[in-house]
Amino acid sequence: MIPDPLRQHLRSCQNIVVFTGAGMSAESGIPTFRDRFEGMWALYDPQDVASLDAFRHHPQTVWDWHVQLADKIRQVAPNAGHAAVARLESLVPNVTVITQNIDNLHQAAGSRTVLELHGNIFRLKAFVDADELFAGDHSPIICRICDGYAVADECGTYATKDDLAAIVLKAGPIPRCPGCGARLRPDIVWFGEPLDIYVLESAMRAADTCDALICIGSSLEVQPAASLPVRAKWGGAKIIEINPEPTSLSFHADVFLQGKAAELLPQLIQAVWQSTNY
Ligand code: NAD
Repeated sequence: MIPDPLRQHLRSCQNIVVFTGAGMSAESGIPTFRDRFEGMWALYDPQDVASLDAFRHHPQTVWDWHVQLADKIRQVAPNAGHAAVARLESLVPNVTVITQNIDNLHQAAGSRTVLELHGNIFRLKAFVDADELFAGDHSPIICRICDGYAVADECGTYATKDDLAAIVLKAGPIPRCPGCGARLRPDIVWFGEPLDIYVLESAMRAADTCDALICIGSSLEVQPAASLPVRAKWGGAKIIEINPEPTSLSFHADVFLQGKAAELLPQLIQAVWQSTNY
């Protein structure tokens, strides 16, 4: 499965990045993004349900779509691949999971250092419409509860951050920040939105300094996430890819394991770290 020199290298690694995409959660029952026939985007135009413009023009439809998605995700559990990634933390000194997934399944499986490039559907944040905000003559301030922009003098309640944390994504009217009254939205990166700069910088640093990167279940078609395995390669890391289909990375990987994450990840860990045959 893994050539001997690469196996030796992996066993001596101090820093490993596990980079994951939608394929990581496919065997948990969450459809991937690009699957032409089953993927959730085959049924919806992303611009209609997952963009700033969509929320601006028909917020309740967007909210309801995310409620449905979150309800589906609540019903699934981490698969054997997520469990294997979490197990890696007991075998390698530093493991950083960089995920494009919004489903919280790495954390549910026990991974502790997870950089969520595209956010997490179970967190909410204030909806900030920059166009609207800077159009009026009011001066925006940062709301001390939701950290979004509030309109001056409208953030003076006795609400706390705990009150905000208690609000969950569920069916019904769109909730508002208990501090400033701003509408809340899922804390995920919608089409056309930039990534959180702090998360992206942490991910770039982890990719630049790792000894090996394991890329699992990503078509590598979404930027800037897709550049991270390449950055790791430039930095001298060994690249292992797991995917049923070859991608633009496969040719450059030190090893391409063709197949499913939940089957191949436990085998990889067994072959490299738990085998006595070395
Ligand atoms: P993608 O849908 O573009 O690509 C999925 C990849 O997974 C494909 O290369 C496919 O061959 C591979 N794959 C399918 N089944 C697999 C399996 N069992 N094991 C391993 N690999 C498998 O996904 P992407 O590259 O992550 O980009 C999609 C975007 O959509 C991301 O931004 C992500 O935020 C979002 N998304 C997230 C989820 C989720 O949170 N679970 C699901 C769908 C989409």
